[in-house]
Amino acid sequence: MSVLTENIARAESYLAKFRERGVLNHIGGASVPALSGETFETISPVDLKPLASVAKGGADDIDRAVAAAEEAFKTWSKTPGKERRAILIKVAEAIEARAEEIALTECMDTGQALRFMSKAALRGAANFRFFADQAPTAEDGQALRTPTQMNVTSRRPIGPVGVITPWNTPFMLSTWKIAPALAAGCTVVHKPAEFSPMTAKLLVEIAEAAGLPKGVLNLVNGFGEDAGRALTEHPGIKAIAFVGESRTGSMIMAQGAKTLKRVHFELGGKNPVIVFDDADLERAVDAATFMIYSLNGERCTSSSRLLVQESIYDAFTTKVAEVANRIKIGHPLDPETVVGPLIHPVHEKKVLSYFEKAREEGATIAAGGEKTSDDGCFVKPTLFTNATKDMAVAQEEIFGPVLTAIPFKDEEEALAIANGVEYGLAAYLWTADLDRAIRMTDALDAGMMWVNSENVRHLETPFGGVKASGIGRDGGDWSFDFYMETVNVCFPRAEHTIPKLGG
Ligand code: NAD
Repeated sequence: MSVLTENIARAESYLAKFRERGVLNHIGGASVPALSGETFETISPVDLKPLASVAKGGADDIDRAVAAAEEAFKTWSKTPGKERRAILIKVAEAIEARAEEIALTECMDTGQALRFMSKAALRGAANFRFFADQAPTAEDGQALRTPTQMNVTSRRPIGPVGVITPWNTPFMLSTWKIAPALAAGCTVVHKPAEFSPMTAKLLVEIAEAAGLPKGVLNLVNGFGEDAGRALTEHPGIKAIAFVGESRTGSMIMAQGAKTLKRVHFELGGKNPVIVFDDADLERAVDAATFMIYSLNGERCTSSSRLLVQESIYDAFTTKVAEVANRIKIGHPLDPETVVGPLIHPVHEKKVLSYFEKAREEGATIAAGGEKTSDDGCFVKPTLFTNATKDMAVAQEEIFGPVLTAIPFKDEEEALAIANGVEYGLAAYLWTADLDRAIRMTDALDAGMMWVNSENVRHLETPFGGVKASGIGRDGGDWSFDFYMETVNVCFPRAEHTIPKLGG
């Protein structure tokens, strides 16, 4: 039996329970259907066949989930940080113990290749460990003294929060939001993406089996315009942590305005990788191709614009095209596969439309630019060359294994092209000149920059974007600032003058 056949059989054994029972909501510790009884199908992009029926939650289900989160908040927010830490570490261990199940389920639901997904489950566990360790000190603050007064700051959990996640690496991404919220003492209502609902259900089951009290984490499946919208409008929800498209972010901001929702947004990107002719070109080729062709290019920090200095443009893009042409496309559970099927035919249609746009706009398709088969959403790793900065393929987030290469003359032009988009999430810079690296990183519009480096996430560092790429930062202590309210209490240190009125 080949490894692929074995993996498919194992995945089927994990999927069987979802095929039988469907993907239910999870509210107050119980697996429940939507109150309306309605469901929708989640399909696998591997063969476009249904994987399971999913509870189609709406405003009633959100009401129920928020009530459960409010009830649980009374106890969870008062549970000592050390106890919360111990429970969340158990959750991390339980995720590690079921990493294979999570990975295989997610590969079938999203089309992501197992070689990347096997690590994503473990990164989810790492998120739980990292934020758990901060739970005991999360409420600590500062003592700020004046000659007459002493101010003492502290933090307290903001309340039940809503977490709304997209379909790209959904398990790992959701832990990035849910873990710090729980560590801070908040309770959560999670609305995962309708294209990838399965591993969110695994997460809540794993967490409760590991000791997370009922109602602390609740799950409502459904569509953005009903379940998602209801969550963002609910007065019992104090903050919304959202990861998704920029235009959805602005809708959520409008929806949450009436209840003055605090928001944390991680949105789209059109991230440049800028390569100067003095760079280590071999490493730059490897880094640029990894960051666009791994995870199917369905990743917010993908290096989707390749800006190359004119003198090396032809040689560099030829090498990138060679890599793109060598990449193995195939079943996500084949250990050799790098690019699996895109998440869903709707998204595939969007990606394919950019192949047409590139042709119309006069770019050259130097690699890929087509589907490989009609059985699933398989699209070839693609490179557009001879592109100019104003083309749609150079401006819009395509969110697939599609790279647009644009030449530049000098630093000034590189900066103008890099900053000439609405987004500002990440930027990658390749140069041997340290002074230039400092000048460029000082001027680039991006929340995160990597110089001559691979994008490796270090959880202590801030993660987030500028411009249309987001509001707020994750990681380190920044996450706690979002999920907690900072309060200040002032005490007298000495007798001080209090003005007397009316006498
Ligand atoms: P999306 O915005 O379409 O959907 C994301 C989530 O929002 C889904 O759960 C959806 O149901 C929900 N939603 C949709 N409309 C809503 C509404 N009106 N009210 C409340 N919720 C609503 O995004 P997607 O297509 O699932 O994901 C891809 C996008 O996510 C890309 O733009 C990508 O760049 C972005 N992303 C950003 C980051 C980051 O860290 N900046 C990380 C991952 C993905």
